[in-house]
Amino acid sequence: MLKSETIDDRAWAVGPPRSINRNGLLCPDPQETCNALLSRLSHRSRQNLLERCESVDLAARMRLQDRGVPIQYAYFIESGAASVSTRAGDCLQVEIQTLGKKDFVGIPLVLGMRISPHTCTVQMPGTALRIRAEALIHVMTTDREVEKMLLRYVQATHIQSSQLVACNSRHSLNQRVARWLLVVRDRTDSPEIGITHRSIAQALGVRRASITDTFAEMEAAGLIRRSRKHIAIINEPCLAELSCNCHRVIQAAHENSLFGNPGLHIERW
Ligand SMILES: [Zn+2]
Repeated sequence: MLKSETIDDRAWAVGPPRSINRNGLLCPDPQETCNALLSRLSHRSRQNLLERCESVDLAARMRLQDRGVPIQYAYFIESGAASVSTRAGDCLQVEIQTLGKKDFVGIPLVLGMRISPHTCTVQMPGTALRIRAEALIHVMTTDREVEKMLLRYVQATHIQSSQLVACNSRHSLNQRVARWLLVVRDRTDSPEIGITHRSIAQALGVRRASITDTFAEMEAAGLIRRSRKHIAIINEPCLAELSCNCHRVIQAAHENSLFGNPGLHIERW
């Protein structure tokens, strides 16, 4: 089934009215771009991409990519959160990457592939800028700065995925849940996380009851506050103490992708 048949285009409510570019797409003001990758580009390269992007709303549980399906669009997330997952068994999906406003969906295109090996699902509603696969490839082949930025991003996601393998096999559930909250907090730039226990359990590949128990302990310790479909981080320093260091490795790798800064050595973690 083609991706276009898996997404109900009627669900793509276009965001607040913005300017219409020369390609006839509703696009954002370059100065108002919320995606960290785009905002780090030079004005010329950012404009080069934005001319081919359109603003879209992201609804919870929306699929941005489906495993084994040709990719039609890549996305620069501006708000909300999404999860890249891989299949473990017939029906179990395990998260391999957490995405937010610092992220890009469409890595296979950067690596010359047109079919995604993974599924990407929106976890927290938000907005994104989407660009057709052909348009992204064109920009990458004609704009070296964009290509370099996306290749650095690929490296950061590789580090994140491999760190999650190590984390899931070596660290306790309490540490992993704390790490997950901190990564989402970093990616969304907000301590307010609107997601169900069930979705977090799926992301971590554990039972929902285990997540509920862990959150109860964290709340009793004054680290978080819970309500229905919502978690608020109220003591981030103590949450970071509870967590393993994996979120720092992931964050440092991502900062390198944004700034290309060799001074951020992940080895120290
Ligand atoms: Zn860990």
